[in-house]
Amino acid sequence: MIDKIVIANRGEIALRVLRACQELGIKTVAIHSDVDRDLKHVLLADETVCIGPAPSIDSYLNVPAIISAAEITDATAIHPGYGFLSENADFAERVEQSGFIFIGPKSETIRMMGDKVSAIAAMKEAGVPCVPGSDGALGDDNETNIRLAKEIGYPIIIKASGGGGGRGMREVHSEAHLINAIALTKSEAKSLFGNGMVYMEKFLQNPRHIEFQVLADQHGNAVHLGERDCSMQRRHQKVVEEAPAPGITPELRDRMGKICSDACVRIGYRGAGTFEFLYQDGEFYFIEMNTRIQVEHTITEQITGIDLVAEQIKIASGEPLSFTQDDIVLNGHAIECRINAEDAKTFMPSPGTITHYHAPGGIGIRMDSHVYSGYRVPPNYDSMIGKLIASGPDRKSAIARMQTALNEIGIEGIKTNVQLQKDIMDDSHFQEGGTNIHYLEKKLGL
Ligand code: ADP
Repeated sequence: MIDKIVIANRGEIALRVLRACQELGIKTVAIHSDVDRDLKHVLLADETVCIGPAPSIDSYLNVPAIISAAEITDATAIHPGYGFLSENADFAERVEQSGFIFIGPKSETIRMMGDKVSAIAAMKEAGVPCVPGSDGALGDDNETNIRLAKEIGYPIIIKASGGGGGRGMREVHSEAHLINAIALTKSEAKSLFGNGMVYMEKFLQNPRHIEFQVLADQHGNAVHLGERDCSMQRRHQKVVEEAPAPGITPELRDRMGKICSDACVRIGYRGAGTFEFLYQDGEFYFIEMNTRIQVEHTITEQITGIDLVAEQIKIASGEPLSFTQDDIVLNGHAIECRINAEDAKTFMPSPGTITHYHAPGGIGIRMDSHVYSGYRVPPNYDSMIGKLIASGPDRKSAIARMQTALNEIGIEGIKTNVQLQKDIMDDSHFQEGGTNIHYLEKKLGL
């Protein structure tokens, strides 16, 4: 049984993991960089270890330092959170080889899903609908590639197999640009991800981003917890998420959810995971699987009542899931607004000291944040400083509660995107529901 966990992350997710550990009676070790001594979870953890200076490469990505911290504190397990090393198969392998439990899937699963060509192949085999595409990596033969693109039909998109963070992708609208685009994406992929493998997919022109949350234990049980709509994006980064997705019928949810949970059993998946899809004209197309807890897990928790981080820990301890698919009932609607320290116009990060902080409250309001009055947001990391979650019996009431909460929130001393979130909540198309992944950028005139 897990009795002490090293939280290998920072910010709100580190605090989220700490809370789950405390509720389960598990001791915590906060590892942190030297500028992060005042993080809320560092102040609250049972033990703390400073693992290096501010740059992530020297601290939150410093594998030997993290393993050493687990050794000197005699911990049982390591929770990677999201970002940083959470989807690094080599890290997961090192953790397990060093005798600790990695709270996540097996390293070989992470490796398979981290490579999009192998992930898509595995998903196809498991019966998950994928985007029509090249069925594997593109070779060097121009004739074959021209023929493939013609068969798929323009526009197409060339994507790096090792890509992530919305980088290493290129749309192609006609044959004249194809060969050049493949060469450019290959060399870009090589320099960005150290892997020049690329593949081809049909480019969907106005999809929504809809993803399914799954949980799978080590005993062959898997369930889905419904879907989230994360179409409100800027530069492929999610800004607002909601659950359930507007317009998805219970039948469609059950059918797609079952495809995802069955795929988990088939590939021997373990832990919490997310199947990401593009959804267009009533069809789902798998794009990738995230093998970790996600930022937006909160909205699924709000409508299912299931603590996803606690479940991750129980699964890693070897416990079987304590519920079946039939026990999972979706109640009402939840929306999450990501609160970022950034300039409203340029979107440039706005680090600095928060001179005054007031969290909103009231029925249906949840604020997951590590910040407090006097906290200094360091310039070294992601600009997200919190997540405001509003839930209610239906979508309309969740929006109304979010609007009230956004008016109530007080963050002074730094710039934030609170006004942008208010504008989105007031937007008539958002209020109708079902906007696609390009909507926010169009609204912003980008
Ligand atoms: P990453 O791992 O870099 O996030 P994804 O494969 O998840 O890459 O794609 C990120 C985003 O890129 C998607 O949410 C979507 O906006 C766009 N995208 C990816 N594939 C396609 C496609 N076939 N058609 C249209 N847009 C796509």
